Amino acid sequence: MRTTRTGTKTLALSLLVLSICQQNALQAATVDTATPVTPSANGAARGPAAVDTARLLAADAEPGQWMSTGRTYGEQHYSPLNAIDRGNVATLGLAWYADFNIARGQESTPLVIDGVIYVTTAWSNVLAFDAVTGAPLWSFDSKVPRDWGSRACCDVVNRGAAAWNGKIYVGTIDGRLIALDAATGTPVWSTDTVLTRDLSYSITGAPRVVKGKVIIGNGGAEYGVRGYVSAYDAETGALDWRFFTVPGNPAEGFENDTMRMAAETWKGEWWKLGGGGTAWDGMAYDPELDLLYIGVGNGSPWNQDIRSPGGGDNLFLSSIVALNPDDGSYVWHYQTTPGETWDYTATQPIMVATLPINGAPRKVVMQAPKNGFFYVLDAATGAFISAKPFAALNWATGIDEKGRPIENPVTRFDRTGKAAVVQPGPGGSHNWQPMAYSPQTGLVYLPATDSASIYAYDRNFNPNPLTTNLGIDNAAGAAELGPNAMADFASGSYMVAWNPVTQQASWRIPGPSAGMLATAGGLVFKGDQTGLGAYDAASGAQLWHSTPTHTGVAAAPVTYTVNGEQYVAVVAGRSNGNYYAPDYSRLLVFKQGAAQVLPEPVSYTPPTLNPPQATASIEQVARGAEIYGHNCWICHGDVGSAGGPLRRGLFPELAVSPTLNSQELFDAVVLQGVRSANGMVSFANVVNADGAADLRAYLIERANAALNARRGP
Ligand code: CA
Repeated sequence: MRTTRTGTKTLALSLLVLSICQQNALQAATVDTATPVTPSANGAARGPAAVDTARLLAADAEPGQWMSTGRTYGEQHYSPLNAIDRGNVATLGLAWYADFNIARGQESTPLVIDGVIYVTTAWSNVLAFDAVTGAPLWSFDSKVPRDWGSRACCDVVNRGAAAWNGKIYVGTIDGRLIALDAATGTPVWSTDTVLTRDLSYSITGAPRVVKGKVIIGNGGAEYGVRGYVSAYDAETGALDWRFFTVPGNPAEGFENDTMRMAAETWKGEWWKLGGGGTAWDGMAYDPELDLLYIGVGNGSPWNQDIRSPGGGDNLFLSSIVALNPDDGSYVWHYQTTPGETWDYTATQPIMVATLPINGAPRKVVMQAPKNGFFYVLDAATGAFISAKPFAALNWATGIDEKGRPIENPVTRFDRTGKAAVVQPGPGGSHNWQPMAYSPQTGLVYLPATDSASIYAYDRNFNPNPLTTNLGIDNAAGAAELGPNAMADFASGSYMVAWNPVTQQASWRIPGPSAGMLATAGGLVFKGDQTGLGAYDAASGAQLWHSTPTHTGVAAAPVTYTVNGEQYVAVVAGRSNGNYYAPDYSRLLVFKQGAAQVLPEPVSYTPPTLNPPQATASIEQVARGAEIYGHNCWICHGDVGSAGGPLRRGLFPELAVSPTLNSQELFDAVVLQGVRSANGMVSFANVVNADGAADLRAYLIERANAALNARRGP
């Protein structure tokens, strides 16, 4: 994800959109039936995905495999393989590739087990390939109803699968957890992780398997849900345990003493708005301590004064929580952002490592959550060890010795009632992209972003489970602060090599956010807008770059060996880029001396900024701005500035939308839902015909403002 400068002026709108060029590509290319093919694997004798506790615990004894999403339970995204190293990485070339034909954001980390690559795609599909030849072995289409896409804040992405005892597990964007036969891709079981279909739960994260249980959380904290993590029997799919991340209605009784304790930190009738705290991505496990670590998301709604009037820490929002994996019982927690009000999730990737702390080895948990501080905690107790900013931030001036942030009161728009520019914005200083830790260098490699956004109290908050419930009014804030409010705030993304012991950057180089892979070859691999690069892990010098992939690479690479030869694999696809551009989502596999060539991209003319004249009244534009802020901004972002606050380029830029030229065309999308196959459902339940006219008037005004800004004074 690249830097987004949200908030400049108005806000954004929402939803509309269209994506004409991508429509044809949206049907998944996958098929249900599959002809099993014997892979050219060295482990075929034991059957596909023959992963068990013993193999996962001894993952370092099989460095050629990538059996779980972070490779090991500690999720360091580090490989001991060193055949590809600083000296020879320049000879890497494309060995094979496989097109997905699904033009949406691709964020998946592949698994590689005994010569087979398993990869998930947008819309929660799974593909299996021979890891040497790229021959397709099977594919699985999860057949997610496309209109569920509007119930996920940040595109219909999927970050990966889990493997266990001959099965591959995937969570779907509509909240199902599915076990597939690893030999054929045929479903073995499927379960619904969602409490109620009246609420907008989703799954984008990779499941983990610990001691025969499949662990999965959900997304949905923008939509008024209550977060939880569930554990299912890997063989049967039966629910084993569930840990709620925020307390429910006290009148219905607390599930356990932990919820009773958490409820002490909430005020008002928080359960009516869900509370949030969805655990949609980061998890790790430490087998020695036998602790499962989960990262917990933001509050629902964002605005704490609406969610929990009068404050409180609101446990376990924005926390790392350690659980007993056998029964899901609480062991410890550390809250990164008490009483969070800025969408500062702590769902970012978590890793476990042993570091020299004050001269002695200590097992720690590390995380670089959205709020911009890099945290090092004691893995056994959760005790705070250290935290320092890894990106520009203004919401806090530091962390005190007890590990509690020292807030900057100006940024507490929910308490002051005044709009504020807050760093970072809701996209965070670091988002979902996996970071990597190299024991060789002692450095953590992570993508960091400087960003800021305008937050203001939404005085017209009206909860609706089918749309976003933020409790902030970016447009009102922009009007309050004036056109230059964002001028002095940094923006930009970079790769940073962070020393977690000294809490300082060793080096940083500019570039778009993408997942990381560190290897014993002294290398760090990371994607960008044109392909995959390899960097010297010590200095950051770029040593290799792939030939152009014609689409951005944001997902984390992996590396593996088959028959003694080392490969590097990564998924490419639109997470860094322009929504309207043609997309080439695909799996790319590299090895030394290979020279496969990708097909030439089709020619493409970007849409031009050419809106109709702005003729609407100031009042109508203002009404449209409010509708936009409540329903559209979360995805479409600031009109004329390319992209939403959370995902630049994943959603259409409405300033160039052809629907601006015709109210009829506009209504067909916004009211009649003709783009629902893309996830842009009808918003007729929240916007009436007058509202749609107001919305279009607002968009036309914004598009003209962008055009005028481009022309200059
Ligand atoms: Ca969020």
